Amino acid sequence: MKNDSESLIDFIDAEAIWNHIKKAENPAPSKVREVIAKALEQKGLGLEEAAVLLACEEKELDEEIFAAARSVKESIYGNRMVLFAPMYITNECSNCCSYCGFSITNKDLERRTLELDEIKKEVIALADQGHKRLLMVYGEHPRFGPAWIKETVEMVYATQSEKSGEIRRVNINCAPMSVEGFRTIAEAGIGTYQCFQETYHRKTYETVHLKGAKRNYLWRLHAMHRAMEGGIDDVGMGALFGLFDHRFELLGLLSHARQLEKDCGVGPHTISFPRIEPALGSELASNPPDVITDHRFKKIVAILRLAVPYTGLILTTRETKELRRELMDLGVSQMSAGSRTYPGAYSDPEYDRPEVQQFCIGDNRSLDEVIKEMADSGFYPSWCTACYRSGRTGDHFMTLAKKGFIHEYCIPNALLTFSEYLQDYASEETRKSGEALLAQGEKLMKSKRRNKEVEELLKRIKKGERDLYL
Ligand code: SAM
Ligand code: SF4
Repeated sequence: MKNDSESLIDFIDAEAIWNHIKKAENPAPSKVREVIAKALEQKGLGLEEAAVLLACEEKELDEEIFAAARSVKESIYGNRMVLFAPMYITNECSNCCSYCGFSITNKDLERRTLELDEIKKEVIALADQGHKRLLMVYGEHPRFGPAWIKETVEMVYATQSEKSGEIRRVNINCAPMSVEGFRTIAEAGIGTYQCFQETYHRKTYETVHLKGAKRNYLWRLHAMHRAMEGGIDDVGMGALFGLFDHRFELLGLLSHARQLEKDCGVGPHTISFPRIEPALGSELASNPPDVITDHRFKKIVAILRLAVPYTGLILTTRETKELRRELMDLGVSQMSAGSRTYPGAYSDPEYDRPEVQQFCIGDNRSLDEVIKEMADSGFYPSWCTACYRSGRTGDHFMTLAKKGFIHEYCIPNALLTFSEYLQDYASEETRKSGEALLAQGEKLMKSKRRNKEVEELLKRIKKGERDLYL
């Protein structure tokens, strides 16, 4: 893979995407049902098939699409939900993205970059709430290169809270870098490298990225390829929904995923689908060009679930708690909780401060409140990091996931991490709800052998052992 962007090819075939969209218009109900039936085989969908589901506008058929997504979600992932918190390291940015509060043109934003000791404080505040998985988020600035990012990640892993332990997996969301740059950050032991293309429509991309390194569409498009070449096994892609026609963006995401699979032998570990939220200083963020209604958003999630059944789908606190609840059933497998979106927010006694944050949050509940609701509705929160720490990443993870591995490992590990949470961090009320759910854990596990093993491990956790996993 070349580092110089001149030689990079644009593998997003816009003409083909428009042809799929056009061809799929006004689909016959039988055609939609044919695609749904294929999706239920859990082998994924091609662009042409996803376009048919996107084109469907009949309420009754949409309900069938949702039912299929729920069924695939339940069958592959069970009732488990991986939880994480975003941790903003810097809001300094030299780019001008017209939808983002961190844009260089936003003179009202207070800029801040955390020092290493401030990162430590944030990590302790997060660990003391019970978090084990973080997504570190960075603005793009020439002062902050791969070596500095590596140092910040190492600081997180090195921090141990006296009360409660440590962060076990760090994912990062930062600007794309060269293969050598990725190699440097891989050395820090990052989990997933996440970077969103924002829009796959090139002309729109140029219109909303007005200044700075991010203007280079192809450099960003090839970021996942370079990350993998640099030794990062798990990559996460995404599009910022609202910038351009959602049908084009969804098919763009699928094209990107397929290309990565073709070139690198493994597709994305996760896909994110943030919807634009109002942001300080951004006119565009308050009036997005493509209006993504809640119904449309639900369809985007459901179609992604059917098209890439084994790829993690990530939802953030940009959305309201009511919608998040529905999307959990429809396909989401990972979500952030208790999020704060500015550097230093978790250890800030004066939280909440709009003059420093990136965008508005739709779900302001604490981690404990989110978990209580999950437990009451039968969902197991999971902080499992076993695969990443046992080298079951990238290609290896995908192959295993396709063989019912989630039921053999992920669900038991979810129960173990949930039990740790209940003992160490939960409020009285959450503990009650959680214990009641854990008592039914056995029924959720398909393997009798695993049942016995998990029972033993749960007993050890009750006696005070920590960080046990399969
Ligand atoms: N600076 C890096 C970049 O742009 O890739 C990473 C950090 S950036 C804060 C992370 C993501 O936030 C962006 O990729 C974008 O999709 C999302 N974002 C920016 N403005 C947003 C808004 N107004 N509403 C929702 N998401 C937004
Ligand atoms: Fe900077 Fe990323 Fe925000 Fe763009 S989206 S202004 S690059 S932080």
